Formats: sequence, structure tokens, C-alpha cells
Amino acid sequence: TEELVRKSEKLEIVSHLAASMSHEVRNPLTTARGFMQLLSENTSMQNGKQYLEIAIQEIDRATEIINHYLTFAKPAPVMVEKVDVLEVIQSIIQIITPLSNMNAVQISFTFNKQKDYSILGERSKLQQGIINILKNGIEAMPNGGKLQLSLLSNESNVQIDIQDTGIGMTRHQLNRLGEPYFSTKEQDKGTGLGMMVAFSIVKGMNGLIEVTSEVGKGTCFSIQFPVYQQAEVPLSSS
Ligand code: ADP
Ligand code: MG
Repeated sequence: TEELVRKSEKLEIVSHLAASMSHEVRNPLTTARGFMQLLSENTSMQNGKQYLEIAIQEIDRATEIINHYLTFAKPAPVMVEKVDVLEVIQSIIQIITPLSNMNAVQISFTFNKQKDYSILGERSKLQQGIINILKNGIEAMPNGGKLQLSLLSNESNVQIDIQDTGIGMTRHQLNRLGEPYFSTKEQDKGTGLGMMVAFSIVKGMNGLIEVTSEVGKGTCFSIQFPVYQQAEVPLSSS
């Protein structure tokens, strides 16, 4: 599991990019395919030439998107869907429980069933960011401990608190948190990329992270996102 998790962290920057790109490229390709299928079903179709032109245009658009990504390596905006944070955290706990069990870490989660915890963002990225934070928490408790998650919300924010009873961080370490390749772990145990990725994902969803830590006591991550507004229209990918 350890090796698997570490490898996936190194890959996540690449997969970030790949996911954004494939998402954008899928639209024009689907359109082009649709028109070509229409034509193949009826070769003597009246609007045949026009359909072919649209298909060519859409394929060109897909090429343009790919070129754009390869040139600027710029990730797509992450404000794309309504995300139920409660549901995301419940599924993350399922994913991470084998790792926490192996490390004698007890996970607890508190939330209010009556409340809505929706935000605007991208589900898979949010999941990746939170997993990175939870993994660090588990790794900070080599002799086991408690990982407490809680979900809060009010009219303006949805807040995720993640508290561990681990080794904590010095002020200096806290300041460097999120710097690429900053890691206090043995060379083959840490990449120093997990927090950078988590911070950039949260920022991309208009969120804020606050970290408090005490050496020997533990660390608390507090992540705040603006609540989802009914009137918000998720950005389309075209
Ligand atoms: P890595 O986990 O690969 O070292 P990260 O970017 O995930 O890289 O974390 C960077 C560093 O921040 C860690 O090496 C560790 O020193 C510190 N850190 C992060 N989270 C915690 C935590 N919950 N408790 C103690 N230290 C932490
Ligand atoms: Mg890490």
C-alpha cells in the first residue's frame, strides 16, 4: 500500500493535467463522431457536406486544445460541478481506512445530517487534496493515534477540519509547508509534493487552508470553501 500511495502522489501532477485535457477534448470529439455516424448511416444525406465540415472543425478544435496544453501545461479551471463534500469525505474514509488500520490510527467523523455541504468545484480533485492531507496525518502518527474529521457549515462557508494526534511541526516546518519538494521524511518515503498539490487544489476552488500545529501534540488543518449558491452556473467546458 505504501509504495502504491507514494507512486500515485508523484503521478498526480501529471494526471491532473491529463484529466483536464481529456475532459476538454472529449466534447469536440463526441460531436465529430456523432456527425460522422449520421453520415455513415445515410450516405446520400442532404446535409452531408455540412456535417462533414462540422466534424472536421470539431476535430481541429480538439487538436488545438491538445496543443494548448502541451505548450502552456495550464490546468483547466476546477469550478465545474456541484460537489457534496459530505459524500466526498465518506468515500475518502472508505478508501483510507485500510491504511489507517495498518497504522493503528482511529478515524472519527462528525457532521450534521440535516445540513447541506455543497460547494462548487471538482469532486476528484477535492478527493485527491484531502487524501494527501489525511495521509500526512496518518504518517505523523507512527505509533498510532486519532484522526478526527469534522464538517461544519453556515450561510457562507463549508469547513472541513482534520485533526491528528501526531508528531506536529515546528514553526519553521509550518512555514515551509506546501513548498515543492519540502519533506522531512526519509528520501524514499516522501515526495514533498502532497501538500503543494493539496494547496493548489483548494486554491483552485476558492478555498482557504489554515494549519495549526504543536510539536508532540498534533496538527489541525482547517479548510474553508464558499457554499454553493443556487444561482451559480458551473462553467461549461467549451
Ligand atoms: P511528504 O508527505 O511526501 O513529505 P508533503 O508535501 O505531503 O510531502 O508534506 C510535506 C511535509 O510537511 C512532511 O514531510 C511533514 O514534514 C510535514 N507535514 C505535513 N502534514 C503533517 C502533519 N499532519 N503532521 C506533521 N507534519 C506534517
Ligand atoms: Mg505527504
